Amino acid sequence: MHACGHDIHMSAFVGTARRLVEMRGQWRGTLVMIGQPAEERGGGAKEMLADGLYERFPKPDYNLALHDAASAPAGTVGYTPGYALANVDSVDIIVHGIGGHGAYPHTTKDPVVLAAQIIVDLQTLVSREVSPLDPAVVTVGSIHGGTKHNIISDQVLLQLTVRSYTDEVRKTLLDGIKRIAENQGRVAGLPEDLLPEVTVRTDEFTPATYNDPELVGRVTSAMREAGVATTIVEVPPVMGGEDFSEYGRTEDKIPGFIFWIGAVDPVLYQETMAAGGTLPSLHSPFFAPAPELTIKTGVKAMTIAALELFAKPE
Ligand SMILES: [Zn+2]
Ligand SMILES: [Zn+2]
Repeated sequence: MHACGHDIHMSAFVGTARRLVEMRGQWRGTLVMIGQPAEERGGGAKEMLADGLYERFPKPDYNLALHDAASAPAGTVGYTPGYALANVDSVDIIVHGIGGHGAYPHTTKDPVVLAAQIIVDLQTLVSREVSPLDPAVVTVGSIHGGTKHNIISDQVLLQLTVRSYTDEVRKTLLDGIKRIAENQGRVAGLPEDLLPEVTVRTDEFTPATYNDPELVGRVTSAMREAGVATTIVEVPPVMGGEDFSEYGRTEDKIPGFIFWIGAVDPVLYQETMAAGGTLPSLHSPFFAPAPELTIKTGVKAMTIAALELFAKPE
C-alpha cells in the first residue's frame, strides 16, 4: 500500500534537490534537506533534533515540508495558515481481569466485557466533555485479548490515538481516559491492584503543527505567481498529526510551513465527486496516488517555495 504516500514524498524530495542544484545560479544561501525517518511513529524529527540537527548542520531560517493529500486532485496545492495538524497522543490501556472457564463466568472477572464497556464509555469524552466547537478525536485502533472460545482471558490490550489542538482539550481527553478506564474497573468489582493501567506514550507524542501565517502568505504568493499548480487554495485544518511541528518548537522558534499537494487522479476525483462518493483516505489500502502529476507539482511547488526564501544572486 502507499499508506501516507511516502514514495511520493521521497520522489518530490529528490526532484526538488535536483532542480535546485540545476538552478544554482538563481539563488544564494544554504539549502539543508532533511531526510527524516519515522514520520508514522512521529519520532523521527524529535530524535534528529536531539541528535544535534541544528548544531551539527547549518541552522535554517525557515522550515518547509509537503505532504500529499488523498482528498484533492493531483496538480493542486492546499495550505492552512496557523494550526494545521493536531496534537497526537498514543495511549495504551491494559485491562486486567481474572481468567477462568467460559462456562463459569461468575468465577471470573471478564476483561473482554470490561474492555467493551470502557470503549463505549470513551465515546462520551468527545460527545459530552469537550466543547462542540473544539476539535477532538478518541479512536480505539487496536484491541487484543483472549485465546479461545471457552476461555475467559485475564488481559485485554487497547491502543488509542487521541487528537486535539489545544493543551486544555488534550488534558481533558487524557485525564478522562484514565478516569473512565480505572473507574469502569471499579464498577466491574476488580480489586485496586487489578484496575486498568493507562499509559500515555509520551515518547510518541506529536505536538500540533503551526504554519507561520506570514511565511504561508509569502510562499503561496510566490507559488501563484509561478503557476506551480492549477489551484492553490486555503484548506481547513485536519486531525492528522505531523512531527514536522518539532522543527519549529526549539528555542529558536524557526517559522515553518507544511503544505498539501493533491494526489488523486483528476478524472477519478471528478467522477467520485460527481457521484457523491468518498475517496480512500491516506493509509487506506485503496489509496493510489497519480504519480506523475503529483510528483511534478510537488517538485515545482517546493522549488518555488525555496527560491522565494533564498537571497537572489548579486
Ligand atoms: Zn501516515
Ligand atoms: Zn503522513
